[in-house]
Amino acid sequence: MTAHVDETHDPKIHSFVESAQDPATDFPLQNLPLGVFRRAGTAEPPRIGIAIGDRILDLRACHERGLLRGMGDPVLEAALAPNLNAYLALDARLRRTLRHRAWHLLRAEGAQVTARPHAADVLVAQADAELLLPAAIGDYTDFYASLHHATNVGKMLRPDNPLLPNWKWIPIGYHGRTSSIVPSGAPVRRPSGQTEPKDGGAPGFGPSRNLDYELEVGAFLGPGNPLGATIPLADAEQHLAGLCLVNDWSARDVQKWEYAPLGPFLAKNFATTISPWLVTLEALAPFRVAPEPRADGDPQPLPYLADERDRERGGFDVALRVELRTKAMRERGLVPFVVSTSNLRDLYWTLGQMVAHHASGGCNLRPGDLIATGTVSGPAPENRACLLERTWRGSEPLTLPSGEVRRFLEDGDEINLRGRCLRDGFRAIGFGECRGEILPVQP
Ligand code: MN
Repeated sequence: MTAHVDETHDPKIHSFVESAQDPATDFPLQNLPLGVFRRAGTAEPPRIGIAIGDRILDLRACHERGLLRGMGDPVLEAALAPNLNAYLALDARLRRTLRHRAWHLLRAEGAQVTARPHAADVLVAQADAELLLPAAIGDYTDFYASLHHATNVGKMLRPDNPLLPNWKWIPIGYHGRTSSIVPSGAPVRRPSGQTEPKDGGAPGFGPSRNLDYELEVGAFLGPGNPLGATIPLADAEQHLAGLCLVNDWSARDVQKWEYAPLGPFLAKNFATTISPWLVTLEALAPFRVAPEPRADGDPQPLPYLADERDRERGGFDVALRVELRTKAMRERGLVPFVVSTSNLRDLYWTLGQMVAHHASGGCNLRPGDLIATGTVSGPAPENRACLLERTWRGSEPLTLPSGEVRRFLEDGDEINLRGRCLRDGFRAIGFGECRGEILPVQP
């Protein structure tokens, strides 16, 4: 069973938190994403909050005022934990209990139990909070699920044969690194690494000159599967709790030399930035769509990767964009430059297929694991969601509003990813920021 549309998606119901009515907010009453925060400048233990407008509903503070009574111990314990792992381990029915409680607490009128009289105690300004990683991420897997991205990258490497023969059969992925996953706002230091030898000499070692971002979407795993057990595609979404934005920073010159034959390694493990809010599958229910149909002549997926419901509703309509702001643009007060726009619905493989494939050999997935989609590119040049594609490996440089030219990222450049769901008859919801600035290489 997947999440469905209910009263919490009703666009006519408002929150008493005024900023949640702003049409531009990512966090109206209909979203209610969860995150982990502390008051900035304090050493207080991390606590769970729910974003509403420009505020955060502090669940521990709610509990201290008796506002979380009657939800049952597992939900209450999850709400009071220092990260979302216990919440992620809950099944969808229990997760919905917390969503509905928060919705009642925050709605403007007609609530059985309301946070309104306690607003000063239970609401924290996002500007006064430090957002942390939402979960202790046990394992991180990055896929390569966009046909447009895989084809573009393949064309640069193999102009006559861009897609390898396995690509339309297997959701390709690699096991990533969790220790270097950082929340939005954490700076990213330019890595050094080995690069391809010139003229048959020894490889170089030094600061990456081809530093790039990748616009991706991440999915946090909910309940896991035992080691040795598989996850049928029809059940895959029961194991997905929600989505975030992911920037898979990539050192292309390092990647080019090191990737054969085992795939990415140091070129991608120096930093991965994620947006701090878990936008739940429940919140995303109105924005489910059919994934892009396979082209005529493409193979049908093997039976374990085929499911009717996944074909009808396995996609997510999330408009995505990449914003770039250089140091000079910030100093001159220029607005960010939109480098690309794309949509999550354009993926070739669904998140459900990625989960089913990941577990198909018996690999156990656990609550708090993160899987990412790979770069979400679309068919047009302006849909190319990393600089490698956008500037075609530097051969088509971008000219920015400041007059600066970019082939790859320079020190001081700041990348921010955005994601927003729009549908007639529903309130738009968004993902918040996924921001990182490039620092110079370590001296
Ligand atoms: Mn990637």
